[in-house]
Amino acid sequence: MLDAAPIRTDWTREEADALYNQPFMDLLFQAQSVHRQHFDPNQVQKSKLLSIKTGGCPEDCAYCSQSARNGAKLSAAKLIEVERVIAEARKAKAGGATRYCMGAAWRSPKERDMDALEAMIHGVKELGMETCMTLGMLEEDQVFRLRDAGLDYYNHNIDTSERYYKEIITTRTFADRIDTLNRVREAGIKVCAGGIVGMGEQQMDRIDMLLALATLEAHPDSVPVNMLIPIPDTPLADVAKLDPIEFVRTIALARILMPKSHVRLSAGRTDMTDELQAMCFFAGANSIFVGDTLLTADNPEEDSDQALFDRLGIQAMAVGCDGSR
Ligand code: SF4
Repeated sequence: MLDAAPIRTDWTREEADALYNQPFMDLLFQAQSVHRQHFDPNQVQKSKLLSIKTGGCPEDCAYCSQSARNGAKLSAAKLIEVERVIAEARKAKAGGATRYCMGAAWRSPKERDMDALEAMIHGVKELGMETCMTLGMLEEDQVFRLRDAGLDYYNHNIDTSERYYKEIITTRTFADRIDTLNRVREAGIKVCAGGIVGMGEQQMDRIDMLLALATLEAHPDSVPVNMLIPIPDTPLADVAKLDPIEFVRTIALARILMPKSHVRLSAGRTDMTDELQAMCFFAGANSIFVGDTLLTADNPEEDSDQALFDRLGIQAMAVGCDGSR
């Protein structure tokens, strides 16, 4: 067995560019080799995502149907009840999910919501599941409250490269996002941070997005890579589809730059063939969201995920197992 690839946070643009653009077979071989040094290649983590507060978001993320500023017609709902969150988590656990992610369409949480958020964390943890939340930007005291309630992971995506960011969001900056990620990590909550590809960005933006994550003080524990689902009436409704080979290259680069992170195949799986998903697993993706909706977007049925796992000989990671070697 080869020596384990070192965990580096000093990757350069030139290195990342050369890795991404090497011949495809060499890239896949390298990514799979790195993957095997740190993970069981036949295990994939299943996470479940629930929208705990849908629509009416004041941010203007161009890809999102939940933004009140986009033309998409999704009405705003209130934060859902704690009991309902826990009941849904129980069902997700019965379906094999080990991590429960709760997402709210907010710029940041309000003080009046904190008690309910803490109760959700307690309730889901009591089921023996890992907890993750995505609530927008966080102030330091909010980070501490969520940590003290037992939150395991906080998701905050950087979305794209710093260069392309202003084409996608104008209501908060790339630096705001990095600040929240740093606060979360410094407080001892594990970080989940990734982005979206296929938003009309250039190849260098996909590389720079991953480089921004891989050169943080510590790599995110989870790196979700989403393929844009173009939503009617949003500014990105008619954006040209990304070449799937570019998507696989993005997954492979994420695996090589961040060898010990869970690379999650996130939104966009409904538009991917089984063969493309299999290639993504070979390139180092080892986490998926299960369930037929992802916040407001479609996701494959759990039966079809299980059928694919069976055909590929993949097993779901067990509760409490991070799949790493
Ligand atoms: S992605 Fe999140 S922050 Fe952006 S508009 Fe949608 S819900 Fe709001």
